[in-house]
Amino acid sequence: MPEFDSDLQKYDRQLAKGFKSLTFSDELESEFRTFFHARNVVKQRGAIIVGILLLLLLIPLDMAHLNGEIREFYLIARAWITIPILVLALVFTFREGFRRYFSVFSFLIITFIGITTNIQVVYGLQAGVYAPYEGAMLLIMVAFFLGGMYFRQSLACIILVALSYLILSETYLGPHPSKLHQYFFIFATCLIGGVSAYTLEYQVRISFLQRGALKSLAKTDPLTGLYNRGALNQKLTHLTEYAFREKKPITLLLVDVDFFKNFNDQYGHIKGDQCLVEVAAALAKNCQRPLDFAGRYGGEEFLLMWFDAAPNEARTFAEKTKRSVDLLQLAHEASAISNTVTLSGGMVTGIPTRPDQAEAIVHQADQNLYRAKDSGRNRIIIQDLGDEHNIADIVK
Ligand code: GH3
Ligand code: MG
Ligand code: MG
Repeated sequence: MPEFDSDLQKYDRQLAKGFKSLTFSDELESEFRTFFHARNVVKQRGAIIVGILLLLLLIPLDMAHLNGEIREFYLIARAWITIPILVLALVFTFREGFRRYFSVFSFLIITFIGITTNIQVVYGLQAGVYAPYEGAMLLIMVAFFLGGMYFRQSLACIILVALSYLILSETYLGPHPSKLHQYFFIFATCLIGGVSAYTLEYQVRISFLQRGALKSLAKTDPLTGLYNRGALNQKLTHLTEYAFREKKPITLLLVDVDFFKNFNDQYGHIKGDQCLVEVAAALAKNCQRPLDFAGRYGGEEFLLMWFDAAPNEARTFAEKTKRSVDLLQLAHEASAISNTVTLSGGMVTGIPTRPDQAEAIVHQADQNLYRAKDSGRNRIIIQDLGDEHNIADIVK
């Protein structure tokens, strides 16, 4: 198997490894969080609007059934604290920079609302006034499913809210007939909500990994695991545009295995496939920096690309690439020029003079590849970008 790491392997490995603690490896976790925040934003807006509407319905109910000090207490908490905070949260969902803080914001608000509601309920019950403790169960559901929090955050929030109720109730309320029932129902809501919320986040994470794997599958050559032709063209176009804008050089190398038809005839297609896999892995190791890449251009042809290399580095890249395949020492008895598998290549290096030059660069590299084939194979011909008549260097 090739040793280089493709995007696809990243998702597959995490899927195979599992994530019972609901966290991925660092790189995937930050990708997941971006996905989670973007996906959640519409749901959060809906949830906040529903929350505001429910509170607006609840206020007249409270006002009709409560009286005295506790009535004031509820009015202030609901109308003057909770609703404005929710409106603020709604406004924040429209600010892109805020999205990644939303779950923390949500954690603080819901914990705050939960604890203050508990204070009101216990205060009311202590004063002998009816105060609806059932609100706590509603809040638990909101924290688990509508707050836009990660499971761990919602669990922490709920533990704080449930514990605060227990402590307040034990401290300020004497024994009363429904107490144990209250505890039971709050605990049961935590348990059912918790298990469901855990399962939900697990499923969301699975679908994130599957989606990632599917997306990278569309860009991957199934045999070698390198980028396929479509992905190569796309990356090449972007990098050329970028290099043009930044006035940075790019180096493109197109290589082709020598006498590969003979290899297949000699050793069979399966061995031929294995040979391509090994060559691909060896080639890919030469493109390690973040914007560098390698891919299978087609058949036994590969494309390698380096970004922002100094002019004298092009030769080094060509040497290293050629040597990496020579070192494999793959027997090729049917080759007319060597006992082992060799490559011919055409390289072009320089700063793009047009943003849409990608195709022309590949064409120029391809012409050099033909030159390398014509002049004896097992060599890489290097040319400066745009200078199609002069050969800058040859690596044998
Ligand atoms: P040259 O030195 O001029 O490049 O000669 P060549 O034989 O390598 O070139 P040619 O284009 O005649 O043949 C390429 C061969 O590569 C033919 C094709 O069957 C083989 N090939 C292309 N893709 C695959 C593949 O995925 N697996 C295998 N086993 N062979 C492949
Ligand atoms: Mg070929
Ligand atoms: Mg060939």
